[in-house]
Amino acid sequence: MAKIKMTTPLVEMDGDEMTRILWKIIKDELLHPFIELNTEYYDLGLEYRNETNDQVTVDSAEATKKYGVAVKCATITPNAARMTEYNLKEMWKSPNGTIRAILDGTVFRAPIVVKGIEPTVRTWKKPITIARHAYGDVYKGSEMKIPAAGKAEIVYTAEDGTETRELIHNFAGPGIVQGMHNLDASIESFARSCFNYALDTKQDLWFATKDTISKKYDHTFKDIFQEIYDKEYDDKFKAAGIEYFYTLIDDAVARVIRSEGGYIWACKNYDGDVMSDMVATAFGSLAMMTSVLVSPQGYYEYEAAHGTVQRHYYKHLKGEETSTNSVATIFAWTGALRKRGELDGNKELMEFADKLEKATIDTIESGKMTKDLALITTLENVTVLNSENFIKAIRETLEKAL
Ligand code: NAP
Ligand code: MG
Repeated sequence: MAKIKMTTPLVEMDGDEMTRILWKIIKDELLHPFIELNTEYYDLGLEYRNETNDQVTVDSAEATKKYGVAVKCATITPNAARMTEYNLKEMWKSPNGTIRAILDGTVFRAPIVVKGIEPTVRTWKKPITIARHAYGDVYKGSEMKIPAAGKAEIVYTAEDGTETRELIHNFAGPGIVQGMHNLDASIESFARSCFNYALDTKQDLWFATKDTISKKYDHTFKDIFQEIYDKEYDDKFKAAGIEYFYTLIDDAVARVIRSEGGYIWACKNYDGDVMSDMVATAFGSLAMMTSVLVSPQGYYEYEAAHGTVQRHYYKHLKGEETSTNSVATIFAWTGALRKRGELDGNKELMEFADKLEKATIDTIESGKMTKDLALITTLENVTVLNSENFIKAIRETLEKAL
């Protein structure tokens, strides 16, 4: 069989530890044999980030703006322990944070649904995608402990010096206060990313805040979404046969639990942090989640939702066998290849991505899986495979299908 050709390069961001090991096996077993892989390679492994003073991370994000699609391996975010382990010049920032700051946008996370890994919520039949706003609110808040009686106010000073004040509370004794903010521009790009993603994946979009209580802050989120929807997306949604609807966050939670799934749930930053962990856990595992950063300009960066699986890597270094789940990393590749194919009108590449995803799911459903899934599956007669043999089993399934 002739290998599939790619006209435009994909931005490839290599990473660290166990996921770096999986990355190479995935390329060797599941990609190179079938595709003339055309990538612009950036090594985001911590050693090379340190060598280039993290310039490689910035370059990889800029390349994503140039080509439109990237695939990223999990990377170490350095902490004190990593400073000595890797002899770092500086405690480099989180690569995901750097890339997000350059591309802007929203992170979409969806579970990969397979038979035998059953959601905790019985009614869920289709994946629920969480769209998390990644800017502001409590993550950029300022806080103060109030030591004793006194008045706390919010003060806004305009550039011409005029002040606007709002009383927070007249304290009779000690307490606490918090100030937080968001930006219209960031909320607008969050809204557009969500609407575009809904159109892209032909799924309904739900958005929820607490606007009845937060009549200015949360209400602004609601209003911006509605204005952009009415002006720019209403026709497109109707043509695609999908729906946008807004409700209160507590109503949304109740509806989500009663639903069948199959929609996108847009969340403010904090809600998204909490709800994505709930949804991931209730669907099975972080190793069975897809994750993609979508910028308002339509740049896409696909990744796995989990980290570098450090504990498994140390076992691997000691020569011990590992059984690390590569599904999320495989789906990062298929997501990126499919999007590349879509943008280039390369049908063969898109079909390959579909087939590789199906082969991955079929392999698990046939009872061949990694240890993490074997522990939670409802299937009987399961074969637990090591990291490499699981990927080889997927290759066998794929070759039969091709
Ligand atoms: P982690 O890599 O997500 O792993 C935590 C634990 O979850 C593992 O020890 C393992 O449990 C289980 N696990 C996660 N992914 C798995 C997989 N694919 N297959 C099987 N089991 C899996 O988180 P971490 O160990 O806390 O973080 C390690 C490094 O990753 C850190 O340096 C952190 O900075 C980085 N990180 C990167 C990203 C990213 O690049 N997107 C995200 C998060 C963290 P058992 O050990 O019980 O088997
Ligand atoms: Mg969290």
